[in-house]
Amino acid sequence: MDPRHVSGQPVQIVKINDDPDDHSFFLDEAALNRILLQDNGALKDKPLCIVSVAGAFRRGKSFLLDFLLRYLCAADRHHWLGPEDSPLEGFHWRGGSERDTTGILMWSKIFLIPTGPPGSPEVAVVLMDTQGAFDTSSTVRDCATIFALSAMLSSVLVYNLTANIQEDDLQHLELFTEYGRLAIEDSGETPFQKLQFLVRDWSYPYEAQYGAEGGRNLVQRRLELSDKQHSELQDLRKNIRSCFSSIEGFLLPHPGLKVATDPGFEGRLKDIEPMFIQHLQDFVPLLLAPENIVIKKINGNVVKCKELVQFFRAYIEIFKG
Ligand code: GDP
Ligand code: MG
Repeated sequence: MDPRHVSGQPVQIVKINDDPDDHSFFLDEAALNRILLQDNGALKDKPLCIVSVAGAFRRGKSFLLDFLLRYLCAADRHHWLGPEDSPLEGFHWRGGSERDTTGILMWSKIFLIPTGPPGSPEVAVVLMDTQGAFDTSSTVRDCATIFALSAMLSSVLVYNLTANIQEDDLQHLELFTEYGRLAIEDSGETPFQKLQFLVRDWSYPYEAQYGAEGGRNLVQRRLELSDKQHSELQDLRKNIRSCFSSIEGFLLPHPGLKVATDPGFEGRLKDIEPMFIQHLQDFVPLLLAPENIVIKKINGNVVKCKELVQFFRAYIEIFKG
């Protein structure tokens, strides 16, 4: 397929009312079913891989997801970046000053990826974007809910951060994941699957180099336990580690001033720093190449496409209470 045109559109499936007096939740079950039961149900028995990106507002989450979409839409997975001068399409990024409704968006098209050589079983890949801002104390609860829901529903949760992994990023993560952990029954299994820290605008390559190895080093350092730490800091780290079956890191360089500040920037590759693109080319296949795909499991069982809606419904109910 022509990578200039991604097929599908973003669909808001979970909304939280922004009204200060009424933070009600809404799951658009009809929209979710339209996505999961597309192609006359050809997807219904496929195992799922659900990648979601979460973190603070205006930090390039949707921008990143649109590169994941390019990868998934590309006919040739070794040449997926596309032409130098095509605008970047997909989930709405930059968004101007107006804020979108807090919630979860799902890409309307599901992508089938073989898990190995041609003829191997296929996995249905779902992309989820999250939206929310920590404006006021009431919206912190909304954000925690959105974050917890995406942790519960994804097989890979990308925690998108800017500049570094700081203590308050870890505190937020712990708050959100505890919120999720309390919501699901204790089955003895690790509650969530892969956590992928993604640090944008990393500017200390001399401390930890860009990419996966530097990311792993940074995560290890930040989550390290030592006797010198206050017990609160130790507990925080133990809690985070115990919530995820694997934790990875990746460090991306700054994408350049056009990306960060030019209001006329439309996402063309030629306007992005080559070094950013180079590392993006390493990052995307780490999530989506057949050998790296993480299949969604709940309580140790593989989740099929047709089963996802019941989990959404059940989880939303918990948070409504
Ligand atoms: P979201 O709210 O987290 O989804 O953020 P968006 O994807 O809408 O991007 C917000 C702004 O950040 C846009 O103007 C992008 O051009 C810019 N942006 C995207 N990626 C990066 C990055 O890695 N670093 C910086 N500094 N800006 C970025
Ligand atoms: Mg966004």
